[in-house]
Amino acid sequence: MAEMSLVCLAQIHTHPKQIATHSSYDDSHAISGRNGFLSLVVTHYGGVANFDLNQMSVHEAWDHEWVVLEDKAKIERIRIVYDFDARVSDLDE
Ligand SMILES: [Zn+2]
Repeated sequence: MAEMSLVCLAQIHTHPKQIATHSSYDDSHAISGRNGFLSLVVTHYGGVANFDLNQMSVHEAWDHEWVVLEDKAKIERIRIVYDFDARVSDLDE
């Protein structure tokens, strides 16, 4: 990503059932712990009928800790876009 001047802002993974907490393993194995990095955890292994922010918890790295974002903060920080082609080759144009 760095070679292409891209920055990873967030990661996403799933958990079973209603479990949306960031585990200690999640805390220590996130791909980044830089301040402001987001880690999204989706419940039911992502197999929900209406995928939206209510089915996920959002954790923000801050000063080597993970802080859970409240609903208002989730809405302000994240937009779910359902039909977007984000292939990197599009950036060369
Ligand atoms: Zn996890």
